[in-house]
Amino acid sequence: MKRLEGKNALVTGSSTGIGQAIAVRFAQEGANVAINYLKTPDEAEATETLVHEAFRTVRQCGCKDMLVQADVSKEDQVKKMFSEVIGKWGRLDILVNNAGIQKAGASHETALEDFDRVLAVNLRGAYLCSREAIRHFLSREGGGTIINNSSVHQTIPKPKYLSYAISKSGMANLTRTLALEYADKGIRINAVGPGAIVTPINRAWIDEPDQRKEVEAHIPMGRAGTAEEVAAVFAFLASRDASYITGQTIYACGGLTLYPDFRRAWSSGE
Ligand code: NAD
Repeated sequence: MKRLEGKNALVTGSSTGIGQAIAVRFAQEGANVAINYLKTPDEAEATETLVHEAFRTVRQCGCKDMLVQADVSKEDQVKKMFSEVIGKWGRLDILVNNAGIQKAGASHETALEDFDRVLAVNLRGAYLCSREAIRHFLSREGGGTIINNSSVHQTIPKPKYLSYAISKSGMANLTRTLALEYADKGIRINAVGPGAIVTPINRAWIDEPDQRKEVEAHIPMGRAGTAEEVAAVFAFLASRDASYITGQTIYACGGLTLYPDFRRAWSSGE
């Protein structure tokens, strides 16, 4: 399982949820993991503990981790984060753009600052981090890989979450455009599109049995996904097993992108 042995990975927003599961999975695969947190290092303590446990399961790995602060929407903080990671380890091989937020509200009532904030974190943040990673990848031999945490909402509209939906559809073209631009430089750029996953971003329904039932009723596989199931796709895309894949989004969504309402051929009267 040590597909990422010797690789140095940076996972943004990895204090919780899917980012945490990616950090742990990468550690299980033998990578050194830089755990990005937003404000204070205590946010990332739980992830670090789990990463250390993962290192213990990988015998003779000698793996390292580091905690690194940055608000990914801020250029100066992103630059500092990259110089800390590259300064300490000399090299970065894998970037995961995972940090993300959403804000609910009817589109006509949304405050501009809320709209801007979601785009700043989810889209500008992914661009800023990708830019730093690509500059580094181009500065030395061996290329590198970037994996974006997108969403099923890169294609499915999400009423009352306009900025989120726009940020993720923007991420689709961020992935494809950068992939094409750097395909001949040994740099692969892909995305994962999770569906409804049990993480803090979904605190509105994960612990509410009735609401959770309602959510899961819309999912063809009949259940929400786990962060670990999503992290497994990141590990695949980061590894040499995906060496000929670039510019793609793999959905980990239990079938949500399959137009679940068409399970019955209602349009043909069945
Ligand atoms: P989460 O709230 O647990 O994780 C978000 C992480 O991003 C947190 O650790 C938070 O501290 C960090 N973060 C927020 N703003 C930041 C900033 N400005 N700079 C750095 N870090 C910041 O939720 P999650 O579900 O694990 O979300 C992770 C990613 O997965 C997001 O991009 C989200 O859009 C995406 N996603 C989640 C689901 C789902 O159902 N949970 C579905 C599709 C996509």
